This record gives sequence, structure tokens and C-alpha cells, in this order.
Amino acid sequence: MKVLVINCGSSSLKFQLIDSESEKVLAKGLCERIGIDGRLTYSPAGGDKHVFEDPLPNHTVAVSGVLAKLTDEKIGVIASLGEIGAVGHRIVHGGEKFAQSTLLTEEAIQAVEACSELAPLHNPANIIGIRACQELMPGVPMVGVFDTAFHQTMPPKAFLYSLPYEYYTKYGVRRYGFHGTSHSYVSKRAAEILGKDVKDLKIIVCHLGNGASICAVDGGKSVDTSMGFTPLEGLTMGTRSGGMDPAIIEYIAGKENMTLSEVLNVLNKKSGVQGISGVSSDFRDLESAAAEGNQRAQDALDVFTYRVAKFVGYYAAAMNGVDVICFTAGIGENDMAVRAEVMSYLGYLGCYLDKEANNVRGEERIISTPDSRVTAMVVPTNEELAIARETVAIVNK
Ligand code: ADP
Repeated sequence: MKVLVINCGSSSLKFQLIDSESEKVLAKGLCERIGIDGRLTYSPAGGDKHVFEDPLPNHTVAVSGVLAKLTDEKIGVIASLGEIGAVGHRIVHGGEKFAQSTLLTEEAIQAVEACSELAPLHNPANIIGIRACQELMPGVPMVGVFDTAFHQTMPPKAFLYSLPYEYYTKYGVRRYGFHGTSHSYVSKRAAEILGKDVKDLKIIVCHLGNGASICAVDGGKSVDTSMGFTPLEGLTMGTRSGGMDPAIIEYIAGKENMTLSEVLNVLNKKSGVQGISGVSSDFRDLESAAAEGNQRAQDALDVFTYRVAKFVGYYAAAMNGVDVICFTAGIGENDMAVRAEVMSYLGYLGCYLDKEANNVRGEERIISTPDSRVTAMVVPTNEELAIARETVAIVNK
């Protein structure tokens, strides 16, 4: 079956057409600046990248543009839309309603809409993408795959905040966790690579990208994760603060004469390694600045790696041990220096870096020494493939 995977943001839409039998990407691309002016980038497998600057006034026009490229006589990869067997949508928040991927019936779409309050920036955009596909591909089954679903196995001791309980029961204030599709895919893949059953392993997945989170996966189930009610909690990120003393919010609002939402905007968009360094949120820029002697860039890198190492320690404690530590996403897959620095904290676990093996980018590889008690590895994430697999599984049910 050919599955169109859609990841829809408020002004962007990423897509991949995946052949579920061969698991090959047939074409992929991105619509940007939707509602502003518009740019569609389209790359058929093995072909050149094409950029179209046609106007994209809304998401329906964007999806329609994508479908036109996929079926184009010259650069298309399918003869007609009839070849698309299903559409898989990435959905950010499934609240407590969705512990699994789901067929997007009208009832399910309404339930996703009801979760919008918990993710006001993301879910409405996801729903716009779903509606646009419904309009242009009526009758094609669509599946929602949620970032939060994998973490619904967390026990109350991991998901409850120490706040008045009624905030949880009345308003759903609890830890949900995100990047679930990635944590699930990477933990399963790590077990496969090691030739073991995921049910027999305690795995810590470090998803280190611009957004970053760590997950404790015990026997294939998420038992804790570093992001919480929103993706703001936990690690230091590209521009997000991660965990901090909430009293700082009122203090800074007073000092800088800002509203609560202005402070939250700073915590989301101007903090993290960007905020500390004043240089960039991109680790390549931070590393070159640090190499030239920029101390704040070095501090930002140190805060980042120290916090990753601390969370690995939390989760080794939470699971009473750990067998495998995985690095994934932009930084985890590509940044050898960050991996080496994190690993320098892990000797107490009996996890030692194999420097030569660590000299790798974007490839599956064990990077701990053979005598390590805990295996460290790089496992590139593939959220689109995971969504395509889930979509096929749900459609074939
Ligand atoms: P997201 O999906 O959250 O936007 P990614 O997983 O794509 O993020 O990660 C993007 C980040 O990965 C970049 O901001 C950059 O810091 C880091 N990154 C990408 N390539 C490299 C590299 N070669 N070396 C170091 N860091 C890299």
C-alpha cells in the first residue's frame, strides 16, 4: 500500500509518500509559508529537488499542490490518486483519549478537536490538514498517530504533578510527554539491532533535536519521559528553557514589565542554548563559537549535556537499571562531541565510549566499548516510517 504521511503545522506541511511493502520513500517535500505567500519543495526518490513559488493561501491549496506534484506526468511518482491507499497524520496531542493510533472517523476527529485546548498551537493545525485531505481525497482512510500516545502507559507516580489533585481531574493538568512516535520507533529498532526482545530490555532514548526529550522504556513501554504538560518541560533545548523554578516567571514578569504570556514566549522561543549563548540554537554554531573561545557558547553546551546526563541518571534509577542508551534526532544522530560529553558522565553505569565507533553521523551504530555493561548506540529516528507502519496496521485491522 502507498501511504501519504502528513505532518501539518500552522504555516507548514511536511509530506512523504511511502511504499509500505518496500518501506521506501517514493517522494517527499514541504509546503512553507502557507497563508503568507507560499513555497512548495518536492523531491521524488532519486530525482532532483523542485521548488515552486506558487501561492499557498491555505492548507487545502497546499495539499492540492502536493497531490498535483505526486501525480505530475514529468516529476510525479504515481499515475493517479487512486494509488494512495491511506493517509497517516501526525497529531501532537491525544490527551488521555488516545493511547493508540486511531482511524480518523468523524467522531475521532471531534475527539482530537476536544484535545486542542491542551495543544492550542498544534492540534488546530493538524485538524486543518486532516480536513484538507478529507476534502481532496474523499473515501481514502486516514489514521491519526499521536505524539503523546506512547506515553499513556506512564504510571500515576510519573504523570502526576504535585499540585492540587483537582487540577488533574478538572483540567487535565498532568504530564503527557511528546516525541512518542520517535521514542517508540527507536526503542524497538534498538532491540532489533541487538537481536533481543524489547520486552526484555530497559532502554533510555535520548531524542536530542531542536526539541529534545528523554524517555525511559521498560519492556517496550514508556514509564517516564522528560516533557510534561507541554513540550516546555525537561531538557534544555534549542530555544526552550526546559525545567525551571516556576517562581522565576512572576519575578521576570515584574522586572521586565511583561505579561505571563510574554514570559512564556521567552521560555519557549528565546531560552535554551540560544538564550544562554546569545549565539544560536544550532549546535554546529555553538561548537564553532565555543572553539573560538566564546565562553557563553561553551556554558550552553555544558548545561545541555549535563542535564541530559542527569535525566539518564533519573531514568536508570526509575527503572532500577538500564541495558541500552540510544541517541537520536538531529543532535543525537550527528553530534559526536555532545554524545562523548554525555557519555563522560556514565562511567558509574559501566557505560564507556568507544571513541572510534562514535565517529559516525546518522547511522545505526553501537558506540560503547565491548566491555561496557550498558550498550550505548546511535539509532536514527524515522517518524514518517513509524507513522506509515501504524497507518497500515490500523487500516488493515
Ligand atoms: P527538530 O525536528 O526538533 O526541529 P532535529 O531533530 O531536526 O530538530 O534537530 C535539529 C538540530 O540538530 C539542529 O538545530 C542542530 O542543532 C542539530 N544538528 C543537525 N545536524 C548537526 C550536525 N551535523 N552536528 C551537530 N548538530 C547538528
